Amino acid sequence: MLNLEKSAEAFAEAKNLMPGGVNSPVRSYRGMSCPPPFIARAEGSHIYDIDGNEYIDYVGSWGPMIVGHAHPQVVKALQEAAARGTSYGAPTLLESQLAKKVMEVYPSMEVIRMVNSGTEATMSALRLARGYTGRNKIVKFIGCYHGHSDSLLVKAGSGLATFGVPDSPGVTPGTAEDTITVPYNDFEAFKAVMEEKGEKIAAVIVEPVAGNMGLVLPKPGYLDLLRKLTKEHGTLLIFDEVMCGFRASLGGAQAAYAIHPDLTCLGKIIGGGLPVAAYGGRREIMEQVSPAGPVYQAGTLSGNPLAMTAGLETLNIITAQPEPGEGDYSRKLTLKTKDLILGIAGKAREAGVALQVQQAGSMFGFFFNDHEVVDYETSAASDQEAFKVWFMSMLEQGIYMAPSQFETLFMSGAHTDEDIQKTIAAAEVALKKVAEFQKNR
Ligand SMILES: *Cc1c(COP(=O)(O)O)cnc(C)c1O
Repeated sequence: MLNLEKSAEAFAEAKNLMPGGVNSPVRSYRGMSCPPPFIARAEGSHIYDIDGNEYIDYVGSWGPMIVGHAHPQVVKALQEAAARGTSYGAPTLLESQLAKKVMEVYPSMEVIRMVNSGTEATMSALRLARGYTGRNKIVKFIGCYHGHSDSLLVKAGSGLATFGVPDSPGVTPGTAEDTITVPYNDFEAFKAVMEEKGEKIAAVIVEPVAGNMGLVLPKPGYLDLLRKLTKEHGTLLIFDEVMCGFRASLGGAQAAYAIHPDLTCLGKIIGGGLPVAAYGGRREIMEQVSPAGPVYQAGTLSGNPLAMTAGLETLNIITAQPEPGEGDYSRKLTLKTKDLILGIAGKAREAGVALQVQQAGSMFGFFFNDHEVVDYETSAASDQEAFKVWFMSMLEQGIYMAPSQFETLFMSGAHTDEDIQKTIAAAEVALKKVAEFQKNR
């Protein structure tokens, strides 16, 4: 049995200090049968808690840690940067260096603005889209998460396309009303909305590879349809690649699916574990952002030198020219991820457990479900109780995964073949328990 005594004590204290004991909800392990391990340190593919447990980490700080934890090159650059001062609130060369690096891999981003979180990036991109088009309404897809700004905290009722109902107290019905929600991967629903309201819609925002209802891939042709109809109606297409950027492929979903969005949001990896995100796109649109244009957006710590340094070093590592005869960084991650998920899928078959296995580059996920998962509804129909059995068994065996099957998991460059084989062996044990559980309930 896993000893989490110190974590349990720390969590009890934290609950008096912070809402639910955490600074972001999913960390609280709600619904799981143990407290969240409190983390003491992390290195490479491993993470260590204050009780002395060691885990192979597939959460990767929810995506950013693509080169692994405490990568020596990143740490060294950060130490040197910190010694030069941690913030100036004035321009630096680092900001242009990171901007150029990002544009090398995201040529659709002709002009870029750095911010501090993915939430800020999507919120600002929407304001810009509304300012640029002079329209109020936006379209988002059910089950896509774009951070916690008001207009995006809207979920849908059932039915094809519904006007937004606030998902959280504190979001006014007026705000929610301007958000139209459509089921992901539903061709007809999207066509109908654009036909009916296209000329009122400022922007369509989408996770082109969806990672916040578990991992759900776009159906062939779906992103092309979004591109085609937004163009026809003068609506901006915003790709929220905060999660799938640098992961679905190095150039994100837009490179993998060959789609040119008008605006792109990046986050997570772009800060290499420090708080950075960005939005950018066509020059003509981005020049509307202040002080070049009238759409206001600012940030005291935006472009922070430490954060730029961590992002830049991380991107330098993943874009480095491979050794002759070796695949590039992204390709290697993709292959490792494939090894892992095929291994786990094999163990699920042996155990007789219905498991939907998903992959996009270095992102992966599992649904305890005997149906293909294509949208929020099919994702939500997964077996929650089976997931809990799986999760606890994996954690006890030293495999650190997200405490929800509606979160995506991530491979890093630091994961070794040994890590992967250990994980598959642990999965064999966990899946046998799931099979038992499903049979006996
Ligand atoms: C994580 C995430 C966000 C929000 O980013 P924060 O930095 O948590 O504000 C937005 N969009 C997507 C697709 C994300 O995965």
